[in-house]
Amino acid sequence: MTDVFETEPYQRYLEGLERGVLVYQHCNECHKAIFYPRPGCPFCGALDLQLRDSKGSGTLYSVSVVHDKTQNYNLVLVDLDEGFRIMSTVPDCEAPSIGARVKGRVEQLPEQEPRVVFDLCEGVQE
Ligand SMILES: [Zn+2]
Repeated sequence: MTDVFETEPYQRYLEGLERGVLVYQHCNECHKAIFYPRPGCPFCGALDLQLRDSKGSGTLYSVSVVHDKTQNYNLVLVDLDEGFRIMSTVPDCEAPSIGARVKGRVEQLPEQEPRVVFDLCEGVQE
């Protein structure tokens, strides 16, 4: 089995990050959202997948606070409005609440791979 991180669709994901966009796939057969991008639909096996840009808006599905030697940070699972889930972090809040609305952005730190992180939406429903 091919590692998803070596596939051409995953490269499209990295290219999305470089232009500041979180991309995912839409299956034209079963109409489910797929993430990470991959060659075939994990739900129905179709190869007819369409790359789409996510708006980055979602809801926190789970939150784990990690206690490191030097700092605490969180690992979250975010349910994006488009229907897929991503593991990420909310860097500006140590322990965000499950169910909170969040907005993704691409964080590019020096000498690191770009990644998607999330900010809390302050009481604004989009
Ligand atoms: Zn499918």
